[in-house]
Amino acid sequence: MITELLQHLLPNQQSLGLVDWDFDENEHQVLLTIASVQTVVACPLCGQTTHRIHSHYERTLQDLRWADYSVKWQLQVRKFFCLNSDCERRIFTERLSEVTEPWARRTCRLAKQLKAIGLALGGAAGVRLSRHLGINLCRNTILNLIAKLPLPSIVVPEVLGVDDFAFRKRQSYGTILVDLEQHRPIALLKDRSSATLTQWLQEYQGVQVLSRDRSKEYRQGMTQGSPESIQVADRFHLLHNLTEVLQQIFRGHRTELRALETTHHSLSADTGQETLLIAEPINMATKCQKEQTQQRHQQRLANYQKIWQLHQQDWAIPVIAQRVGVSSRTVKRYLQASNFPERQPRSDRGSKILIPYKDYLLQRWNEGIHQVTKLFEEIQQRGYNGSYMTQARLCTAVTSS
Ligand SMILES: [Zn+2]
Repeated sequence: MITELLQHLLPNQQSLGLVDWDFDENEHQVLLTIASVQTVVACPLCGQTTHRIHSHYERTLQDLRWADYSVKWQLQVRKFFCLNSDCERRIFTERLSEVTEPWARRTCRLAKQLKAIGLALGGAAGVRLSRHLGINLCRNTILNLIAKLPLPSIVVPEVLGVDDFAFRKRQSYGTILVDLEQHRPIALLKDRSSATLTQWLQEYQGVQVLSRDRSKEYRQGMTQGSPESIQVADRFHLLHNLTEVLQQIFRGHRTELRALETTHHSLSADTGQETLLIAEPINMATKCQKEQTQQRHQQRLANYQKIWQLHQQDWAIPVIAQRVGVSSRTVKRYLQASNFPERQPRSDRGSKILIPYKDYLLQRWNEGIHQVTKLFEEIQQRGYNGSYMTQARLCTAVTSS
C-alpha cells in the first residue's frame, strides 16, 4: 500500500520504478531506492535508439521534502552502447530528462523550486528562506541555478534608451539598453564603445527612437548601427548637464554673489522690510578643525594654480593629474572653472522656515521647557511643517548663543 503511494509520488512514473524505501528517524530522512525502467533509450548525440546495456551505476539525488522529512534518492541508472556505427559516441549514460539533469545532484522539481526562490529573492535571502524550509545549500548554488536559466528572447522596442553603467566606478563601464515604453532593461553590453552598440543595433533592427546622453561614442554607434532612427537627448542628461554648467558658473562668482546677498540683507534691515531675526549659523568647529580646513583650502588653491601652470605648458590631463596627485576628473573640473572653485560651505538650508517660530521657542525655553521633542510638537501645532532635525539644530543654536 505504502509502496504504491510512494511510487505514485515519483515524477515520470513510466521511466522510474520504486525498488525499496526506508525511514531514517535519526536523520529525519526518507531514503528511496529507485531504478530506471526505460527499455529503449536514444543516443544523445545521433538520436538512434538502443537497448544494449553497457553497465549499471548509482546516483544520489536530493528531492523535494515530504512533510518534515528530507528525501534522498539512490537512483540506479545505466550506460548504453550506441548502435550507430557512424556515431562518435560509443557509450553513453541514459538521460532521464524530466527527472534530473546529467551530473545534477538534485531532481528537476527540487531545482525548479530553488530557481523560483532565487529569482524572487536572490542569493543571500534565498538561502535564508531555503533553510527555513529545511533545504541546506549555499548562496552560490542558487546563483548558479539562476545563471544557467535561458535568457528571455529580445523583443525589439520602438523607443530604446541607451546609457552607461559602472562595473567598477571610474575603471570599467558597460552599456544598458532599456525599453523605454515598458520601462524594462532588455540587454547589457560589455563596454560603452560605439562598435559594440553598432553591432547590437544591426543585429536587432527596427528601433525607431534612440535616447541617449550626449556622448560622442553613443552618437556614432547609433548613426552607424541604425541610421534611420531618430536620436534624442534624454531629459535626465540634459538637466544634469545644465546643473553642472550652472554650478560651475556660480562657483566661479561665489565672492560676488556672497557680496550681493549681504548687501540685500543689510538693505532690507535698514528699510525695516524684514524684521525677523535670522538664526546665526551654528558654528561648532573647534580651533583645530578650523586650522585643518584652512590648510586643506591652501592645498586646493596650490593644486589649482599648479594645474593651470602645467596646462599652460601644454601637458596632457592625465600627466597633470599624476604630477599634482589628484584625479583627472579634478583636473578637468579646475580647468573648466575660470576662477578657483571654492567649496560649498555647510548648508543652513531649512533653518529659515523656522524663523517665524524663533521668538516662541526662546520664550518657551526661558519658561523652562527644555525638551526638544516637546518644543517640536508645540510648534508643529502652530503650523511648522519642517523636519525635527532642523528644529533640533536651531534649538541648539538659539540656546547656545
Ligand atoms: Zn550515437
